[in-house]
Amino acid sequence: MPTLPVQPISVAVPADADARSHVLGMAVPELRALLAQAGADQTYRVDQCLDWLYAKRVESFDQMLNFPRGVRERLAELAVVYRGNIVRESASSDGTKKLLIGWPDGGSVETVWIPDGERHTACVSSQVGCPVGCRFCASGINGVQRNLTTGEIVEQAQLIRRLIGSRGRLSNIVFMGMGEPLANYENVLAAIRILNAPWGLGIGARKFTVSTVGLPKQIRRLAEEDLQLNLALSLHAPDDELRRELIPWDVPIDELLDSCRYYFDRTGREVTFEYVLLHEVNDRPRHADRLAALARRLRANVNLLRYNPVEGLPFQRPTAESAYRFQERLRERGVNSHLRTSRGSDIAAACGQLRRSTTVAAPISPAVAAPISPAVAADPPATDQPG
Ligand code: SF4
Repeated sequence: MPTLPVQPISVAVPADADARSHVLGMAVPELRALLAQAGADQTYRVDQCLDWLYAKRVESFDQMLNFPRGVRERLAELAVVYRGNIVRESASSDGTKKLLIGWPDGGSVETVWIPDGERHTACVSSQVGCPVGCRFCASGINGVQRNLTTGEIVEQAQLIRRLIGSRGRLSNIVFMGMGEPLANYENVLAAIRILNAPWGLGIGARKFTVSTVGLPKQIRRLAEEDLQLNLALSLHAPDDELRRELIPWDVPIDELLDSCRYYFDRTGREVTFEYVLLHEVNDRPRHADRLAALARRLRANVNLLRYNPVEGLPFQRPTAESAYRFQERLRERGVNSHLRTSRGSDIAAACGQLRRSTTVAAPISPAVAAPISPAVAADPPATDQPG
């Protein structure tokens, strides 16, 4: 597989015909300017509007009943509250729900609600498609179409709140949906600030997880934001050679770990490694040994996840038993790891699958469907004895 440059690519914002602004993407000064333009320039109007948007979760300006009719009409000419529509909703037997949200320009993204007792997590997308193109993932198969706007990211959280309804409150946000969040840095950060604000959703900074395949410059920049976000590094391979095969953005692991160390030193937040176990590709004892060495360097926890197969891609899900053996091997080497349960495996759980099954997707190219290089995958038979 050819490797690609790792600079965040610049991708356009939506070019749909509706030029009205998206109120869910506005910080307070922008909202104040919008209200003034609509003839409601009193200070208290901002608080009223925020209350309607985030506490009462109205879907149109018309529902803001303490605003004069003329102001409501003018607001509706200038802006919209919701931009997307739900193209499809799938419910898993384990309670997980996945939404496919369509935007007016034809792009669509997936958003997932994961209920777990008191905890309600929204897994949100940051881009339409993904520029990274990890070999095992459905989201990046057709590349990236565009960045999501700030409002489109906030809107996903609002739609999940609508699903949760009276069952509780949205408590956690993970940027693990479609896209590489740090390649859409400004919009993702602006959305986090709205979701975190007391006047917005009021979700604590420590309840956010930004998951990235790793852009060292952006990781350092994130460290300097004075936010206490969780950072998850999608490692998926414990050495550069295998990682290059799986993740075409070619950043040496040492460089990634240096930026993660900087993140930890600046924020005091531990970094987590995400590691999708791919049968006989990255799940052998030697991989566990190398992964353990990397995790110890950073005192990182490891989240293991058994792969959810994607039709047409040459990867398989390892057995539960082999995943437990892998985890045990990490534990024997002093590394704390969690084997995450695959939620929603009956609803095309792997990121990007629902969109692919719903839209007319381009065929998978032979290069993507080909097994990874035998030289990288080859390994002596596993003994499963600690080395
Ligand atoms: S795993 Fe994440 S970074 Fe990789 S292609 Fe899928 S969405 Fe993009």
